[in-house]
Amino acid sequence: MLIKSQIYEAQITDYTAEGQGVAHIEGCAVFIPNAIAGERVRVRIEKAQKTWAAGKIVEILEKSPHRRNRECPVAKLCGGCDFWHMDYEEETRLKAQRVKDCLNRLGGENLEEIPILAAPTCLGYRNKAQYPVAQKKGRAYAGFFRAGTHTVVENPRCRILPEQTDAVKDIVIDYVNQFRIPVYDEVAHTGLLRHIYVRRGVVSGQILVCLVINGQTLPKWEELVKNLKQVPGFTTLVLSENTRKGNAILGDTFHTLYGPGYIEDTLCGLTFRLSPRSFYQVNHHQAQRLYQAAIDLAKISKTDTVLDLYCGVGTITLAMAAAAGQVIGVEVIPQAVEDAKANAQRNGIENAQFFCGDAGQAALKLEQDGVRPDVVVVDPPRKGLNADTIEALSRMSPKRIVYVSCDPATLARDVALLKARGYTLQTALAADLFPRCAHVESIVLLC
Ligand code: SAH
Repeated sequence: MLIKSQIYEAQITDYTAEGQGVAHIEGCAVFIPNAIAGERVRVRIEKAQKTWAAGKIVEILEKSPHRRNRECPVAKLCGGCDFWHMDYEEETRLKAQRVKDCLNRLGGENLEEIPILAAPTCLGYRNKAQYPVAQKKGRAYAGFFRAGTHTVVENPRCRILPEQTDAVKDIVIDYVNQFRIPVYDEVAHTGLLRHIYVRRGVVSGQILVCLVINGQTLPKWEELVKNLKQVPGFTTLVLSENTRKGNAILGDTFHTLYGPGYIEDTLCGLTFRLSPRSFYQVNHHQAQRLYQAAIDLAKISKTDTVLDLYCGVGTITLAMAAAAGQVIGVEVIPQAVEDAKANAQRNGIENAQFFCGDAGQAALKLEQDGVRPDVVVVDPPRKGLNADTIEALSRMSPKRIVYVSCDPATLARDVALLKARGYTLQTALAADLFPRCAHVESIVLLC
């Protein structure tokens, strides 16, 4: 076992799923933030267990050619991003490798390399931000949590957000300070304003502001609206009531104070209505490329039935509708299903149906009703597919399954389960929708 507080020399050989460097010292895996594969470092052990340890770099003995000065002044503190200390080439290399390693180790594949759709820019790409609000010496501020804590790190200008989003945040904070709006204290469960949620349509320029409050009403909100109108594109102000303790950001109840309560955006040539509760990929450009890859892999023909499980506001479903005979989307969040139905209508798409429910249960029901899709698209949250969904897929036996994933580990687990039911992996591709952050998307085709 390594000794806490002692300094060791180590060679960084790999990365964790969270993007930390990995070294092996005396047979023990050591996780080291801000380390780059290929570097030799002196590391101080902060936490020591039998098989693993966590450490901090005290000196870099051999620097990677991929090491860069951080472009973001708060990168070391803020838990929002993971990779400002390296160039983008290394970031995309490690992301593609992570997807490949998962598919090989957990999915039983033997892939040599997989391609990655790299992003054209790392800056200003996020169309959504959820800033926690905090208070210091009677002054409110907003930022992002420090990694592994609930300490809010202030960042006047976040590099991965567009400037309009930060401008909205600043206006809300000025309003909070001016009118002494009580800031939420999660330990005492007192105060009002918890989070500032901003979503901006990249094509439409429309901005939705949703304030999450521990209460029912927001004092002087008309004054806030007056000020928000200074930001070009400001469209709507919504309150989300979250009076529960815990980490969930949004509450279940929404009240629209100003505007329609949603914004619109254009994606893959279609327009989408987006409510605050609905999922929408945060990187518009890369989402279009990911969905185009899904369309290409699905090879849909005019008589095909396409089932899109975990469909959100119907982005992939509707982008596939023109090529298909009929498309069916399933989604668990009622607001998103309402958006999806409205989106079919606003785009004049008549061969789409949407159902609200759990993907697995809805798919089993559709199977019992005799639905036999030619193509099934699945795009689940990080936990991947549940047993019902795997069972339904196996019973429906579609010709092609296109699996879009935001967690390569659960993707690989599900690929192995689908292989056990007769499918084989045809194509695998990684896609970078979150430059500077450790998350990676991937997409595979199973036939
Ligand atoms: N394909 C969509 C949404 C993907 S995100 C897009 O790209 O825009 C995953 C979606 O699955 C979210 O909308 C989430 O609300 C939904 N979801 C989560 N659990 C679900 C379940 N058990 N059944 C159906 N949908 C679920």
